[in-house]
Amino acid sequence: MRLYDTLTRRVKEFAPREPGHVRMYNCGPTVYRRNHLGNYRAYATADLLRRTFELLGWRVTQVMNITDVGHLTEDDVADAAGEDKLQKEAQQRKLDPWQIAREVEGWFHEDRRTLRILDAHRYPRATEHIPEMIAMIEALVANGHAYAADGNVYFSVGSFPSYGALSGNTVEKLDAGASGRVEERSDKRSPHDFALWKHDPKHLMQWDSPWGRGFPGWHIECSAMSRKYLGDTFDLHTGGPDNIFPHHECEIAQSESVTGKPFVRHWVHCGWLTLGGEKMSKRAGKIHTVPELVEMGYAGADIRLFLLKQHYRAPLPFRLELLDEAREIRKRFNNFIRQERPPGPPDSEAADAARARFRAALEDDLNTSEALAVLHELMTTVNRTGAGADEAVRFLREADRVLAILDEPDEAPDAEIERLMAEREAARRSRDFKRSDAIRDELLKRGIELLDTPQGTRWRRK
Ligand SMILES: [Zn+2]
Repeated sequence: MRLYDTLTRRVKEFAPREPGHVRMYNCGPTVYRRNHLGNYRAYATADLLRRTFELLGWRVTQVMNITDVGHLTEDDVADAAGEDKLQKEAQQRKLDPWQIAREVEGWFHEDRRTLRILDAHRYPRATEHIPEMIAMIEALVANGHAYAADGNVYFSVGSFPSYGALSGNTVEKLDAGASGRVEERSDKRSPHDFALWKHDPKHLMQWDSPWGRGFPGWHIECSAMSRKYLGDTFDLHTGGPDNIFPHHECEIAQSESVTGKPFVRHWVHCGWLTLGGEKMSKRAGKIHTVPELVEMGYAGADIRLFLLKQHYRAPLPFRLELLDEAREIRKRFNNFIRQERPPGPPDSEAADAARARFRAALEDDLNTSEALAVLHELMTTVNRTGAGADEAVRFLREADRVLAILDEPDEAPDAEIERLMAEREAARRSRDFKRSDAIRDELLKRGIELLDTPQGTRWRRK
């Protein structure tokens, strides 16, 4: 498997440190507001990685955090300023921040299920790992990488010489104003130092600590939770493009300063979802959420395919025509699978070749457009030659364990549908039209449409 690594800026071999077992951490949602599609691009990429690893026969331990405290509004600088996003939302909506966090976390799970994103093995919440964060901060203070000042604790960026390796934002570049603002505070030794623990008497979520009551900085949360569940060094860390700096840059500095070991072996970041040429952040105009798109008539799998068919690192323009295109592609796949054909000669050659090429495409830095092209070609070949249709359908279903874009596999439901159809046929024969209509309606509710043809009744999914 070859995969681009943000840290070394090249496509390199990816193999888990423990043979056959990948340990992966994904930066998850900050649960103050329903996430928009830009966030889901990162989660869908993580899901694609997980499914690809499983296709390769590796076991995956996947951890995705839930940030329910400490993520401040001005998060493009290492030492974020402004208000806690949850706190701000709580004040605006006159609700308890805990209540908002749980509500939005629920929406997150709802939306990711709509997009067929598999359950991670753990979803640790920041608020449930405060002791682990405090322990890590204590270790950083003890070994001189951090210092306390007036109830705040700061990480001393100057103590970590390779700061900036991931993002390019070295202290020299930051001094030259590369990243714009820095948070100047009188209690900091350097303007680039960032908070590990914050003292703020007005904050609604606070915990006791050796430095007084306060709350953790966003970056230390992921350092502490990833270490707890995946160890000092793990295989893969993912996130959105906005996480590279400052969030992941700071995670590396904290984690490596505590353990003295390499933190992450491979960094993967997806590209931006762009809107009218601008990156799709909360500031860039119309923000689409998953339910908004579903309301507009797109299936979750349409949205998923829209997110996955472009290479994960390329910028992806958010345009409804691209969602329409994804819907048409899915239609072609689903029709191919359901199509009734005259029995053709068995032939596994085309499907076997496609299987090898599909896998090779994914192993090549997740080349999904090539992987989809392989499937298209296979369908074209089968349609032309009439041979190997069963083998092709079987392979498409196999490929769908990674892509997850086909209509739900219908083996089991088929039997149920056939049973109801037989029951309806019997009802019609005995002129019990009330019963036969009821069965038709019942199936329609499940998205199954019955077609009475001279050859008998057929069904199709709507
Ligand atoms: Zn994170």
